[in-house]
Amino acid sequence: MSTTNLINSNLHNSNKGMLICKDCGRVICNISDNLDCYKISYICRCGSMGSAEVNSVKLNIADSPSAVLKGNHIICPCCNLSLLALMPENYINIAFRIKCKCGHTFNKFKNYSDINKRLSEYNL
Ligand SMILES: [Zn+2]
Ligand SMILES: [Zn+2]
Repeated sequence: MSTTNLINSNLHNSNKGMLICKDCGRVICNISDNLDCYKISYICRCGSMGSAEVNSVKLNIADSPSAVLKGNHIICPCCNLSLLALMPENYINIAFRIKCKCGHTFNKFKNYSDINKRLSEYNL
């Protein structure tokens, strides 16, 4: 019952798995089964922009804490599940709004980085 909306991207599975830039084949991130719904936008290293969206409800982030970045994994601080595995060598920038299956929604992560700083450029 979920619908996947892909722009300039391929997904390894129907709505989970590796998110791939259609223009150059780079893997941008790996989308975990632990996500209920999400919107992810990126600028690939090749210069193309793309996005993937599943269950396109406008996710409420008002009461949610920041996710945690451990290595290249975005972790839910409430249930400690891994939500996204990032491939930072393959993109210039990435932004996301993701909902963990425990119910919490995140659009940022704690560890400071240029990626985090540039999230405000996106209207997710
Ligand atoms: Zn690319
Ligand atoms: Zn969670």
